[in-house]
Amino acid sequence: MKALCWNGINDLRVERVPDPSILNPGDAIVRVTMSSVCGSDLHLLDGYVPTMKAGDIIGHEFMGEVVEVGPGVKKLVKGDRVVVGSVLGCGGCEFCQTDQWSLCDNSNPNPEILEKAYGYSGAGIFGYSHAFGGYAGSHAEYIRVPYADNGAFKVPEGVTDDAAVFTSDAFPTGFMAADMCGIEPGDTVVVWGAGGVGQMAMQSAWLLGAGRVIAIDRFRDRLAKAKQFAKAETLNYEEVDILEALKEMTGGRGPDRCIDAVGMEAHTTGVEQYYDKAKQTLRLQTGRPAVLRQAIMACRKGGTVSIVGVYGGLLDKFPMGAAMNKALTLRMGQMFAQKYIPQLLDRVAAGEVDPSYMLTHKWGLDHSPEGYKMFKEKTDDCMRVVFTP
Ligand code: NAD
Ligand code: ZN
Repeated sequence: MKALCWNGINDLRVERVPDPSILNPGDAIVRVTMSSVCGSDLHLLDGYVPTMKAGDIIGHEFMGEVVEVGPGVKKLVKGDRVVVGSVLGCGGCEFCQTDQWSLCDNSNPNPEILEKAYGYSGAGIFGYSHAFGGYAGSHAEYIRVPYADNGAFKVPEGVTDDAAVFTSDAFPTGFMAADMCGIEPGDTVVVWGAGGVGQMAMQSAWLLGAGRVIAIDRFRDRLAKAKQFAKAETLNYEEVDILEALKEMTGGRGPDRCIDAVGMEAHTTGVEQYYDKAKQTLRLQTGRPAVLRQAIMACRKGGTVSIVGVYGGLLDKFPMGAAMNKALTLRMGQMFAQKYIPQLLDRVAAGEVDPSYMLTHKWGLDHSPEGYKMFKEKTDDCMRVVFTP
């Protein structure tokens, strides 16, 4: 079959690879009908996630049709139209049982790498390096889905593919970001990053009771979408001083809930950008925490900073004093896909949110390297490119 393979920093190629097959009784084989780019993939392209190997298939936000099931699969049959969560969960361990699926104890067959880096390993993730399990990704004609009964969900009739595909990753991530905020009715929620994850965090903040949503980015098209579809007030960090603007907009008090939907490759203005980029390049820090610093500084006393932007390792100039002395709550994590996907499919079916506005480009897999280039450079108003193998 054809697949998009990582071959080094910014080196993606469409290659012929062997078709996947059932390895364990709980596996299903899914024929991929749509597979989206995600901001997390950019960290792979840019070389900030170690343990990628040449030839690894990337991609983790996807849907498709079940074409084969292992003998242990109970809930799925051939022909089902399914959306699949990007993190893998065994379903039986303490963490899966308590709905903290990205912390699964069993779905990462190479736990020793993350045990060294983090103390303990979390779940495997499709197409996301050998440290996260070495699973083949979804930018391919077919994919093996382990623990299929837990991770693959039938798409309700009436929900289009263009909407369903984002319930795989961007929507559950954004929803978890808002959920972790502990929003109280009327709260002001600020979202840094108006990409797919940020857009879904804004939508979710409204669903969970926000009284006001503010979006921060520098790309006009993304801010315009935040305004039009997510009813957000917008701030362009290249045009205003964010801390001053947020203070002013909240009567000097500061926003209640702050969401980082940007992560380790944050861009910023002025000397901070050069400082962070240099330290990251020299591996003196593994992430550029400009957004995290800003969110912690901006947040009102006693507020919450919720982090779904991905960080890999160590950060520099982290304002711990501000977080501590303002009694902030910090919440974070890779998202709990299996916890959120069923209710989000229901919400999409009920017309509460239509994530399909994020799909700006639909291309064949053959053009996926150009698709990633466009997504990375944010040209042509690209928010999400979806490949249709
Ligand atoms: P994206 O690249 O489409 O969007 C990121 C946005 O952040 C861009 O629009 C960029 O302009 C903006 N940005 C950069 N610097 C900024 C700053 N200083 N202030 C405000 N905005 C800034 O990516 P995405 O797909 O939306 O993903 C966003 C993040 O979420 C990534 O770090 C990704 O790895 C992470 N993610 C996490 C999970 C999870 O499970 N926790 C799942 C999916 C994605
Ligand atoms: Zn588990």
